[in-house]
This record gives sequence, C-alpha cells and structure tokens, in this order.
Amino acid sequence: MLASEVTSLLDRLGVAPDCRRGARAVRSPLTGETIAHVEDASPQRAAEAIAQAEAAFRQWRHVPAPQRGELVRLLGHELRAAKDALGRLVTIEAGKIVSEGRGEVQEMIDICDFAVGLSRQLYGLTIASERPNHRMMEQWHPLGPVGVITSFNFPVAVWSWNAALALVCGSPVIWKPSEKAPLAALAVQALFERAAAKAGNIPDGLSTVLIGGRDVGEVLVDDPRLPLVSATGSTAMGREVGTRLARRFARGILELGGNNASIVCPSANLDLALRAIAFAAIGTAGQRCTTLRRLFVHDSIHNEFVARLKQVYASVRIGDPLTSDEVLVGPLIDQAAFRNMQRALEQARTHGARVHGGERVDEKRFPNAYYVRPALVEMPAQTGPVLRETFAPILYVMTYTDLDAAIELHNAVAHGLSSSIFSTDMRETEKFLSAAGSDCGIANVNIGPSGAEIGGAFGGEKETGGGREAGSDAWKAYMRRLTSTVNYGDDLPLAQGVRFDI
Ligand code: NAD
Repeated sequence: MLASEVTSLLDRLGVAPDCRRGARAVRSPLTGETIAHVEDASPQRAAEAIAQAEAAFRQWRHVPAPQRGELVRLLGHELRAAKDALGRLVTIEAGKIVSEGRGEVQEMIDICDFAVGLSRQLYGLTIASERPNHRMMEQWHPLGPVGVITSFNFPVAVWSWNAALALVCGSPVIWKPSEKAPLAALAVQALFERAAAKAGNIPDGLSTVLIGGRDVGEVLVDDPRLPLVSATGSTAMGREVGTRLARRFARGILELGGNNASIVCPSANLDLALRAIAFAAIGTAGQRCTTLRRLFVHDSIHNEFVARLKQVYASVRIGDPLTSDEVLVGPLIDQAAFRNMQRALEQARTHGARVHGGERVDEKRFPNAYYVRPALVEMPAQTGPVLRETFAPILYVMTYTDLDAAIELHNAVAHGLSSSIFSTDMRETEKFLSAAGSDCGIANVNIGPSGAEIGGAFGGEKETGGGREAGSDAWKAYMRRLTSTVNYGDDLPLAQGVRFDI
C-alpha cells in the first residue's frame, strides 16, 4: 500500500522512472514493507560524477557569488512548493512524525534563505600592514568539489546545510545519501534539477547523487579531486573517514554521534522542563544526533520530577505517524536498532538500573516494523551503557547534589555535541555556559539539547568530530583562504626589519 503512495510522491517530485529500478530494495520503517528499488552507483559512475563535478567547478567558480545565490534561491522556491510531498516522503522513508518530516524540509528552505543572503557577503578582511605603502588582505575563493555523506535520520536537511553553502561558495556537491533513505535524496536531486533548468546556464555535474553503501562513500573519501568531504553519521564511520582524509591531507567536516545531557536545577520551571525533556528525549523516537540521553536532576526535586516524567513516558502515543497527528513516536529505523536498544537496556540492568518502558509495541500488527515504548531508566551512577550513544529512545536519569560535580559528570563522556540546563538562577546558567561549563559545541538554557535553528553553527567536540555546519561562519569550510600583500610604493621594506641589500 505504501509503495503506491511512494510511486505517486516520486512522480509529483519529478524523480525519473529510470532512477527507480535496480537491485537495492528500499523499505519503510513504518511497516517494514519494500517501497521501491534503486540501483547503486557503479565505480565507473562515481568516477564520471567526480570528473563532471571537477569540470563544473572550473565554470562555477567564475560565476559571481550573488548569481550563484540565485540558483539557491530557486532551489528554496522548489522546496517550498514541494514541502508537503517531500516531508511525507521523509516520514515514510525515515519514520519521523509528519510535522517533523515537514520541519526537516522547512530547515532546507531556511538554509537556502540564509545562503542567498550569504551570497552577497562572503566577507574577507583588510589587515594593517607593518610596512609603509603596503596593503594586506584576505579573500575567500571557491575550494573545489565537495563530497557529502549523510545519515538516515536527517535524510535531506543535512545535504542542504552543506549544499546551499557550498553552491554559493562556488563548490559543486556530490552526495552519497544513507543507503536507508535514498528516495528522499533522489527527490531532492530532481528538485535541484528543476531549479537549475529555471536558472539556466548551470553546468552539468554541479550537484549529483550517488546511491550506495559504505563502498560508494569510500570512493568520495579517497578521491584526491575532492578537497573536502563532509560526513555525517556514527563516530565509528567518522573515525574511519577522518583517518582516510588525513592520509591525503583533505579537509573533513565530521558531524558524528552525541551523548547529550541536561541538568535540571532546583529553581527550574518544572512544567517547561518536562515538555522540553519529553521532546528532546522521546521526539524522533530518540533518533536525533542531539537527542537527550542523560538527565541529571537535583535531589531536592528528583522524586517529584521523575514521577511526572514516568507519566509522560507511560502515556505518550506510539504508532504509525501517518494514521494520526496525535502519534508522537514513530518506529525505530530497523531491527538492528531495536536489538541495540534491548542490549543497552539489558546492560543497564546489570549496572543496577530500574527500567520503565523500552518494550516493543504493536508487534502483531507490524511484525516487520519496530515500534517501542521509550525507556526511562533510573541509574544509580553514570556507568555502562550510559557512557555511549545508543541510537534509540533511552533516557538515563541520575540525581545530583552539587552543580560543579554534575557538570563534571556531564562532561565525562566521549562525545561533545549538545547540552542544556534548566534553571532560573543566572549564576547556574552562566556557569554552565562558561569556559568551565559544558564542553559541547551546543549548550542551551531552558530548552532541550535538540531542535537547532540554522542560524547558529551546528556541530560538536571530542568524538562528535569537531565539524561545524549551517549558520554563523560555517561557510568558510567550503572556501579556501587567500592572504595577499600588495606593495603600492617604490621601496621594498622587508617585514620584521630584515635587511637584504643587494
Ligand atoms: P552510519 O555511520 O551508519 O552511516 C552514515 C553514512 O556514512 C551512510 O551514508 C553510510 O553509508 C556512510 N558510511 C559508513 N561507513 C563509511 C565509510 N567507512 N566510508 C564512507 N562512508 C561510510 O550512521 P547512521 O546510522 O545513518 O546515522 C546515525 C548516526 O549519525 C548517529 O550516531 C547520529 O548521532 C549521527 N548523526 C550525527 C549528526 C550530526 O550532525 N552530528 C546528524 C545526524 C546523525
């Protein structure tokens, strides 16, 4: 049944029928059924795409940045028109609830708007020179074709964070989407092609999609014609990709896993904190890189607050998000994700956990799909599975008495993506945001760790990979910096007072 809806969505989104044949079966996590087939890119096709991107780069770097921005403006326009259809495809392919599927497309529209504005900026610097009649300056030039490797859980937005910026910065993009969500990628490519046809004079190969698994990703990682690869996914993937990129001195933007935490202080607005924590920990069925996974609650409010959380966990509506807007928790992506979740819960029990929820639901109705009740896990200490990312809705709750000690524990994990504090005491919130506070790339106050806007730089420290994407000055990663000194005088003074008279 879903397969016929997918066919009509792909028709509406302009995906050519010949892209929808092949040996790779695409399944929906909503029911587990096969919804389409696609073909993996062969090594020759990947090599051709890279050669084409290189040729496109030679033309595109000469197009003035505001004109490059015009293409991205038109892409944003196509995305606006396709928001419902593409959002629904994201729901069917990644299992998100409908408003999150649409929200993901809105995020693409937002980054297009941001990039269009940026296309009239891309500011360099003038720098004071110590030498008379000299001017120093810094310019930003296009870098070259960019490989983009993405994860299943944000199957389209992550591409747009990279592509919208790379395109205005003058760099073509070759995209290897998750093998678990190739259809949404084909749809985005079709929308890009519509925008390119409207813009006119767009070189072939400016944006390409290469369907496939890790092997196709490795082709991008290893090709010396790609000076930058942006890779989003697990830390295990990033460790491999980062090492291979370093071997050929290429740049990487690594956006990897997170083991995100929040601290709830005694002065917090607990009604607000409850809603924020529910969205951050349960939303997207725990399958966001910024999902809240660890919660430290002050012991003076612990019992009351955890009792309220338990009620939310017991009552939240789980199911196929296409059937009702009241469903807030869709399925896990696949059986492997379900097994990982169960393994983590088992391990937590051996560390003294009290586990509430976590069981499979609707198994009879959906024998091939994996719906679970989110798990609230009371832990005596931060040990065992609490120290790693399990990509499923598990929230480990711990108690604290001293904020400094809680911040120490907060930072005592391998990842450093996102974090938050709930407090109305500015001494506490400012401490959390200070140099001695959260060690993450993102630290929020009175909201959860998830749900970022595109205006800020997104990414994290430590085993999250160190990359930054989307807002602020993340665009600089897609360009090369040129420092120039110009002598407009008739003398040749040397820097640092060096004398070299011939
Ligand atoms: P994954 O690591 O299994 O796969 C991600 C992508 O990498 C896929 O396209 C895959 O084919 C490719 N890949 C895997 N190994 C590769 C290799 N050696 N060389 C080249 N490509 C390779 O991740 P997933 O299960 O799709 O996504 C979930 C993970 O992604 C979680 O850890 C989550 O936290 C993380 N994530 C991070 C961010 C962020 O911005 N920090 C955003 C979304 C997801």
